[in-house]
Amino acid sequence: LPPCAGIRRVISVASDITERVIAEERLRAANEELERVLNAMGEGLVVMDSEHRMTQLNKKACELFQYPREEILGKAYTFWVHPNFVDILREELEKREKGAKSTYEALYLKKDGSEFWARVTAVPIVDEEGNYQGSIGCLSDITEEKKLADEMDRLYEFNEKLIQGASVWINVTDSEGKITLWNDEAERISGYSRYEVLGNSKIWEWLYPNEEYRESIWQQQQTLANKGNSRRIDTTIRTKEDVEKVIAWYGTPLLEEDGKRTVWMAIGHDVTQSRRDEEQLQAYANTLNAMSREKDRFLSTAAHELRTPLTVIHGFADLLMKRDDLNAEQGTKIEGIKNQSKRLDTLIASLLDISRIEAGKSALVLQQIDLAATLDKVITELRPRLKRKGQKLNYSQHPVQAYADEMAVKQVLMNLLINAISYTPAGGEITVRTEAIEGRIQVGICDTGIGITPEEQRSIFVEFYRTPQAKQIKPNGNGLGLSIVKRLLEEMHGSIGVRSAGKGQGSSFSVNLPADRAHAVGPVPPFA
Ligand code: ADP
Repeated sequence: LPPCAGIRRVISVASDITERVIAEERLRAANEELERVLNAMGEGLVVMDSEHRMTQLNKKACELFQYPREEILGKAYTFWVHPNFVDILREELEKREKGAKSTYEALYLKKDGSEFWARVTAVPIVDEEGNYQGSIGCLSDITEEKKLADEMDRLYEFNEKLIQGASVWINVTDSEGKITLWNDEAERISGYSRYEVLGNSKIWEWLYPNEEYRESIWQQQQTLANKGNSRRIDTTIRTKEDVEKVIAWYGTPLLEEDGKRTVWMAIGHDVTQSRRDEEQLQAYANTLNAMSREKDRFLSTAAHELRTPLTVIHGFADLLMKRDDLNAEQGTKIEGIKNQSKRLDTLIASLLDISRIEAGKSALVLQQIDLAATLDKVITELRPRLKRKGQKLNYSQHPVQAYADEMAVKQVLMNLLINAISYTPAGGEITVRTEAIEGRIQVGICDTGIGITPEEQRSIFVEFYRTPQAKQIKPNGNGLGLSIVKRLLEEMHGSIGVRSAGKGQGSSFSVNLPADRAHAVGPVPPFA
């Protein structure tokens, strides 16, 4: 250095710092590299010193906690731990201080106070002498995973409750026939507790002591399993209390992970009582049927027996009427005997009809008939009545055939037309119409008469039912005509329906019959 004023000598001390500068440079570069690597990590990293203060954290950790780095650095580890987990973390840190690494799950708090679950893996940092210098922890957010696990637990618990609490017997059998599930109802019905049956296959021998029977059940079950469906099998088990019970089973093969159908879930209902009830009901039904047959037999015998004296009474009344010494009063009374015995005869004939149909002895001959011709015959027979009441009949004949018994059809039409004439005042109108609808023939008989209320419409096909107005108009009626009509039509695979807008609004009856043999099968279509 050039000497200056006042300075005589300058002593310079120089030292070579190249190494240090290079080392510092390397250290800085290494730190930067470390920071870059840490920040690039998908998991949060937190470094703590020996006093458990946070000294470094990466970008992801800041993101997880939503804190800026400056607010965290220097803070104690408890800073963001959920209060319930502080003790757990303290234990973990103690382990680390002793040189162990630790993995745990804990609940943390974000800056906004919201919670999140993290899985932490932490390792201690020790110096060359083995002194604890701090630790480094890696955190990953497992909130979603936890939620899912909780949901799974809940679902499992729910299923468990559902299965255990179900009011049906549920058991699962593995590929070796060992029981892996046995619910409360299975215990209740069989008497065997799950501790006795779980993990072994002995239960089947206890429930089905007879080997042959047991084998036959396996075979049935196997057949169903091969078909892959769950049809019902009823078996009789012997319970622990040595009682026989009938169980209705539905088996479902469950697919195991390897795709083989080896696990079998069975659901059983105790049907012992309902079986007994069924058998009792069947016995009742048999008795009732026998009684009903007895009643039909009695009715038909009684009707025949009644008819004989009635014919005699009628004959005597006829004879008496022929006498010429009768005064007017006597004549009226004998006429009364004749009318009433005629009425009784009609009633007996109707009862006989019903009993014949009920007993299946109506002997109807179903065949293709000329319905138009049958209608013609009936109308011709009734012309005088129509004339007497001054009623108009609208009917335009066109060819129509039905598959039915001709005599029965005649009886049906006669009944309906006589009713229409009887319950329509003088001067009224009656319309008869036939129509072919999808393989069936509909015959409509409409009148402008007294009409039938909706309430009455529900009862008119019941035996002996007559409306008060009908009783006044036709005192001789017996309320059996429509019930015979309905029965005859049902015998012929036909049906009948009624419509009326109410009192004084006229009535409309519709008869429905198959048009041909092909349509005389299957259920009768609903009345249209
Ligand atoms: P009956 O005519 O002998 O009373 P039915 O069994 O033929 O017996 O009829 C039952 C009841 O249905 C009748 O009493 C009457 O009240 C009602 N009914 C039947 N046909 C008609 C009709 N065309 N108009 C009004 N009411 C009718």
